[in-house]
Amino acid sequence: MAQPSESKVDVLIIGAGPAGLMAAAWMAHLGISTRIVDKRNAKIFHGQADGLQCRSLEIFDSLGFADRAWKEANHMLEICMWNPGSDGQIRRSDRIPDTIVGLSRFQQIVLHQGRIERFFLDNIKKYSGGNINVERGVLPESLEIDEAKVDDEDEDEDAYPVKVSLRTLTEEEAQPVQQITGSKIADGLYRSSLVQEDDEDDLIRKSKEREGESEVVRAKYVIGCDGARSWTRRALGFELHGEATDFIWGVMDIVPITDFPDIRMRCAIHSAENGSLMVIPREHKMVRLYIQLKEVAPDASGRADRSKITPEMIFSAAQKIISPYKIDYEYCDWWTAYQIGQRVGTSFDAHNRVFLAGDAVHTHSPKAGQGMNVSMQDCYNLGWKVGLVVKGIAKRDILSTYSGERRQIAQDLIDFDHKFSRLFSGRPAKDVMDAEGVSMEVFKDAFLKGNKFSSGLMVDYGSSSLVVKPAQKQALATGLPVGMRFSSFKVLNQADARPWHFQERLKADGRFRVVIFAGNVLGATQKTRLDGFCAKLDSPTSFLHTATPQGKPLDSVVEVLTIHSAKRWETELLRDFPDLLHPFDKHNGWDYNKVFVDDESYHEGFGDAYGNYGVDRERGCVVAVRPDQYVGWVGELEDFADLQAYFEGILVLRPKERAGANGVNGVNGHH
Ligand code: FAD
Repeated sequence: MAQPSESKVDVLIIGAGPAGLMAAAWMAHLGISTRIVDKRNAKIFHGQADGLQCRSLEIFDSLGFADRAWKEANHMLEICMWNPGSDGQIRRSDRIPDTIVGLSRFQQIVLHQGRIERFFLDNIKKYSGGNINVERGVLPESLEIDEAKVDDEDEDEDAYPVKVSLRTLTEEEAQPVQQITGSKIADGLYRSSLVQEDDEDDLIRKSKEREGESEVVRAKYVIGCDGARSWTRRALGFELHGEATDFIWGVMDIVPITDFPDIRMRCAIHSAENGSLMVIPREHKMVRLYIQLKEVAPDASGRADRSKITPEMIFSAAQKIISPYKIDYEYCDWWTAYQIGQRVGTSFDAHNRVFLAGDAVHTHSPKAGQGMNVSMQDCYNLGWKVGLVVKGIAKRDILSTYSGERRQIAQDLIDFDHKFSRLFSGRPAKDVMDAEGVSMEVFKDAFLKGNKFSSGLMVDYGSSSLVVKPAQKQALATGLPVGMRFSSFKVLNQADARPWHFQERLKADGRFRVVIFAGNVLGATQKTRLDGFCAKLDSPTSFLHTATPQGKPLDSVVEVLTIHSAKRWETELLRDFPDLLHPFDKHNGWDYNKVFVDDESYHEGFGDAYGNYGVDRERGCVVAVRPDQYVGWVGELEDFADLQAYFEGILVLRPKERAGANGVNGVNGHH
């Protein structure tokens, strides 16, 4: 038999669901040599996740495709609660906003996972120049880590410590098997928690029998994003810990024909005796129903018999819950069923060389619309770290913050889901004495708190080399907590008066940012403070210079952005700000896109960024922001040494002889 071919790649991603595609997007934006494989022959076309939370939209915007999702999606603005009245019949008891007002510039929307995957694929193609493509019908069959090489610091060296054998499947082998034979409607049972079998062994055996193609790939890093039954996780010998509940839920995507008045609202319906129903209005007149199935209970082994679950039985359960209203359908796009369980991975990485992300390390119920979002956010946290280490820009140490940061999020998510899904699946209390039932006040409160959590905006990473939390400095920017994402308010471009949401300037290009809140630059003392800070920042030993690879523009690793609080009309870009803040390039002139002002706009009001960020309008402060938009450090304009130490802990600094900012770009500052 022919020897399998061998090749090398910097990053190998296993699984092209939302998590894997997010990882691939970072690699495309950072120009990293990458392969991404998926055992299935096509992306998702029906069903599965649909809810997009505010944070995910902010992330999509940083990658460049939030507008596509925003335009195509159904926008969910209100949640209606339906509960039994004293006569036992359901009635609308409450309305609350779907997204807490003022939390983000985006609100929760719903759009099919397949569309999200499409946006990712287009974005990856664009940014990688067509070099990163999902290789479908390809799955790993073995994974070995060369422990002698895992801590190799020098990324230029020939250290490819992870060896993975990949097998290519035939079209037929890569086709998922529908669980219900003969049904015309797509079902998602093959990916459901009710299915325990893994088909990898079978696929590999078949491929070997027909002497199918296999190859060996040596990688610097491997990211396992292969879903809840992750092969990568099993290959590493890791497990998911947690428990399954007795609650079984069905899901149907239908175009409903009904007299239920709130069918275009997100609804939580608790019936008196027939279980609960959640209504999610979707794009193209479609509605997703999550339906509690009281008639199928798990057996002694804890598993439910999935052969008893059909679309008909799921729908009849929905009809009972929604009665006396009538509901029917002619078109069903997809259906599935699942058993609620909450589990977290025992470990998120092996030697910081192989990482697990997404459903591979956390599973829970889908009703709070978290799985896809948190999975993508895992890789939004991981991708830039791996990319910058591969490029030799960041130290390998930063990779350990992935497990530290995301494991906590996974645990919080599981705890949240545990509470939320039990409240949702519980019978409503008949009266205040009914201790077994769920109080609808408690449920509403959980929903309100849950919305804040599920927005993804409450994430607060703990201290590490990337997150420095000295309590006394936080007072300088009370609205920018270190460890949380940089929130967004409108500021105006000093040069052309255009309003921008500041977050729009924090693109996912792998750069750290130093945001200088320059304060009142027209005050003499403040101007001296600003000049003093900039002089240090521009000194040849500053991280800004020593982190920048030879021959690259000075903003290629750390970009400096400024927001000042003086009046725009009284301030001049070239007169009042050191050149470093709007660098000159002999081919392209001054950079007009780095200095912003917190002032009134003509058409979009006043963003009051200083007020909202809790920064003193006179004295300002300095904030360091990670490439994933999380605040990493806050200090005074006098705290340059501290800022230098922050970057020394993260970046690979190479002392070198360099001129100042404008010298680097070939021109001395002149106006
Ligand atoms: P997956 O999407 O499972 O992707 C894993 C990929 O890896 C797949 O493409 C698979 O083919 C591939 N793969 C698997 N094994 C291998 C292997 N051995 N080799 C190569 N490739 C492999 N989440 C939300 O955020 N909002 C929602 O509203 C929501 N609703 C949901 C509704 C339902 C009914 C279900 C089932 C899930 C829902 N989720 C929701 C969860 C969401 O779908 C998942 O959390 C999300 O898809 C996880 O992304 P992932 O990339 O980690 O894994």
